[in-house]
Amino acid sequence: MTIADQQPSRVLRGSTVNFLANPRTNGNEKSTVYIKQGALVLGQAGRILWQGAFSDLPTVYTGLPCDDFGEQLILPGFIDAHIHFPQYRILAAPGKDLLDWLNRFTFPEESRYSSSEHAATAAEVFLDRLFTNGTTSALAFCSVHKACAEALFSAAEKRGMALLTGKTMMDRLAPDAVLDDPETGARESKELLDSWHNKGRLKYAITPRFAVTSTDAQLQLTGELYRDHPDCIMQTHLSESPGEIATVQSQFPWSKDYTDIYDHFGLLGPNSFFAHGIHLSERECARLAEAGSTVVHCPTSNNFLGSGLFDIDHVGNQARPVGVGVATDVGGGTSYSMLQTLGEAYKVAMLKGRKITAHDAFYMATLGNAERLKMESEIGSLDAGKWADIVVLDPKATPVLESRQEVSETLEDILFSLMILGDDRAIKATYVAGKSVYKKQ
Ligand SMILES: [Zn+2]
Repeated sequence: MTIADQQPSRVLRGSTVNFLANPRTNGNEKSTVYIKQGALVLGQAGRILWQGAFSDLPTVYTGLPCDDFGEQLILPGFIDAHIHFPQYRILAAPGKDLLDWLNRFTFPEESRYSSSEHAATAAEVFLDRLFTNGTTSALAFCSVHKACAEALFSAAEKRGMALLTGKTMMDRLAPDAVLDDPETGARESKELLDSWHNKGRLKYAITPRFAVTSTDAQLQLTGELYRDHPDCIMQTHLSESPGEIATVQSQFPWSKDYTDIYDHFGLLGPNSFFAHGIHLSERECARLAEAGSTVVHCPTSNNFLGSGLFDIDHVGNQARPVGVGVATDVGGGTSYSMLQTLGEAYKVAMLKGRKITAHDAFYMATLGNAERLKMESEIGSLDAGKWADIVVLDPKATPVLESRQEVSETLEDILFSLMILGDDRAIKATYVAGKSVYKKQ
């Protein structure tokens, strides 16, 4: 950082919860630092300048304006690793299953995003909604329209946030209004990539919707684009519902399995994000682990669409772990809240006979997702030097939570109650790049 970058702007005071490593493999003690009377110093350039116990605050910072949150929890902002911007208002649309839901509700809604005006207005609502839920970064799908991605990038740039997104590519099995063709899809993706990738905190995500809606020719060009730009993200869907899997098997009869289709076209890599991965075989997991790819668990969406129960111990098997992210998948997902999402992930794990702790869950939604995105040097924890993307959680936000804290004894108790009982009501404040972007009244 330069000297100008080190000009302080304000102090945040509260109970700080910082993640250093994965609690699943390192244990809670070694992976989490909890300071009950903690403080952060934010810099004018948007970075965290200092963090520690309030009693150790260097005197040079003591005269700064202070946002005092008492014993409320200050955490790194949530990172949503899979969300659909143009589905921001179609939550709770009752499809029979994934493919029926796409055809009846999703494709007609996404067709509106050919309009720049519609997309620009929607982008403001969408990003506001992320902030009111404590989400400070997201890996998002746009619609097939270039205007949609332009609108979301522009809105995110104005807010100084780290957003990763891209134009969806799809060239079959959907209404014309949401289709492109292989050449147009690749060309527009490249144009957007050239305009937006690594502009400020933005990154481009090469975004084929899924194998069902892309021909061989489109997947081929998509793979070539990813090969030429391996520092971009590649995001798509994989192994979500039985009906979808049967469809791709009939479309790609030569493939060993669903994962093999993406592999064949060069779409597996360390920056590849596959949403869902509910029904993956051992062979598929081994190949995804070998490629260093990420599977993104979207529990509220999976439950809502009846897609199936994600098996975290199968996918994340320590003998050949596939990296696992966590996300809302709005609008198949039923909440923007990462707290609700983590609570649902816990319940899905229980139904599979698995166990995730609150420490595991909060790590996944912060530093874990940052590590999968290879952005852990920039976001995901409260370490000095990182961007000041921060959420403040009120453990007593509702009467039920307030009573629960009377019997909470540990940080695990408090975090667990927040992910089971909390939602947007528990978000006290959100900061992005050191600026207050949401404050609960
Ligand atoms: Zn999705």
